[in-house]
Amino acid sequence: MAGREPTPKLSLERRVKGFEEIKGAYRPQQAVAEAARCLYCDDPPCNQGCPAGIDVLGFIQRLKTRNFSGAYRLIRRENPLGAICSRICPTEQLCEKECSSTELNEPIAIADLQRFVTDLELEKGIELPPKAKSSGKKVAIIGSGPAGLACASQLALLGHSPTIFEKERIPGGVLRNGIPEYRLPKRIVDRELDYLKRLGVEIKTNLEVKKIGPLFKKGFEAIFIAIGANEPVYMGIPGENLEGVYTAQEFLRRAKNNPKGLKIGRRVAVIGGGNVAMDSASTALRLRAREVAIIYRRTQKEMPAWREEIEEAREEGVWFSFLTLPTRFLGKRLEGMECIRMGLGKKDRSGRPRPVPIRGSEFTMPINTVILAIGQRSDPSFSKMNPGLEIDRAGLVIVKKKTQATSLKGVFAGGDIVSGGATVVEAIGEGKRAAVAIDKYLKKQG
Ligand SMILES: Cc1cc2nc3c(=O)[nH]c(=O)nc-3n(C[C@H](O)[C@H](O)[C@H](O)COP(=O)(O)OP(=O)(O)OC[C@H]3O[C@@H](n4cnc5c(N)ncnc54)[C@H](O)[C@@H]3O)c2cc1C
Repeated sequence: MAGREPTPKLSLERRVKGFEEIKGAYRPQQAVAEAARCLYCDDPPCNQGCPAGIDVLGFIQRLKTRNFSGAYRLIRRENPLGAICSRICPTEQLCEKECSSTELNEPIAIADLQRFVTDLELEKGIELPPKAKSSGKKVAIIGSGPAGLACASQLALLGHSPTIFEKERIPGGVLRNGIPEYRLPKRIVDRELDYLKRLGVEIKTNLEVKKIGPLFKKGFEAIFIAIGANEPVYMGIPGENLEGVYTAQEFLRRAKNNPKGLKIGRRVAVIGGGNVAMDSASTALRLRAREVAIIYRRTQKEMPAWREEIEEAREEGVWFSFLTLPTRFLGKRLEGMECIRMGLGKKDRSGRPRPVPIRGSEFTMPINTVILAIGQRSDPSFSKMNPGLEIDRAGLVIVKKKTQATSLKGVFAGGDIVSGGATVVEAIGEGKRAAVAIDKYLKKQG
């Protein structure tokens, strides 16, 4: 068993340049062969590595015996967004990192196996799992990103009536309005949303919740805040309001929903060093920019983006200008960018060396589109409108770890509005944890 050759990992296949999804899904015999490499550990570390709580070993065992429907039922029980996670989870840092097969050979390609299983489920049509008897209790969920969706799905299974309030026209949060189409197609998110609606989750769009108090008056007995932290951050330098300067949030949303209507120049600079910057750069290439550069003020070593994302962007033709800081955007409509070279000083609060400008090193770069991808933050107006909701210095909601309970009675929170920006699967884990705590809370209320 230990000597079996791993089935090639599909996610490592080179990407194509276009908005169509990165090609490749296992064929049944490939999936079964890959599942057969599993060592079936007694205390499977892969299970511990999944924040959504999927029984990874369990679904791989079912795959090995060709019990495909058993495998997808098992995944769906724990994760209502399994097909989404199989495409965008950083599994190499989670379940696959923990996989015991790594010591012998390659880790089992868990994401590719999960994609095989969940795609098969989508093809066959998602079955509704059994639900608990109706409790008649209404729960309000603010925000329809992965945290809100996971919480709503668990609450519906537990017999409660969840209603999601979403300020945007299209629900799904970053899944539907941020993550590029070639990594996560809209049709996959829509299929999972459709399942949630069939499960009994009501989703009200174009409805921004500003104050939570009135929701209790409307008969909701508990509230889950899942508003994310997706407000843009600006550099505060001259020229940021010029035509041709986008925030990554606006750029990615428009590229996802109406790429033909998004006109960009031939030379594009993306400012920032995180995953959102990599997504923006790869998207700009797909919109036919001739040159796309990532401008980052430190070196590659300090970049927060995942290594795979950096390598993939580089392979696609994105180039990198390290130790560079823009100081001014130039022109009536953006024509160029003034920058300064940086050196690295002592470590700052983030534990990374502080970038220090090198005097006299200013230079100009000709560009016609800039995408600002220097971070995102929470919406400060929400906590201002809801006094008593305890937040930290960064404006993130403070919760009890085990229950996701906030400082307000009956109010819970999870996802990026608590973490400040993590992953989809972590948001799902927090949404599920909150649902369990809300269920207990509602039962206590009688
Ligand atoms: C471009 C991009 C790419 C990413 N890629 C990945 C990836 O590949 N893998 C990964 O695991 N993670 C990725 N992430 C991170 C991941 O998307 C987030 O961690 C996750 O979406 C957080 O989920 P959430 O539910 O907390 O918030 P969100 O997904 O941000 O959803 C919050 C929702 O709340 C709504 N809302 C806000 N305020 C209100 C209000 N007052 N009333 C009503 N509705 C409101 C918003 O409109 C939004 O729909 C990426 C993030 C970005 C920005």
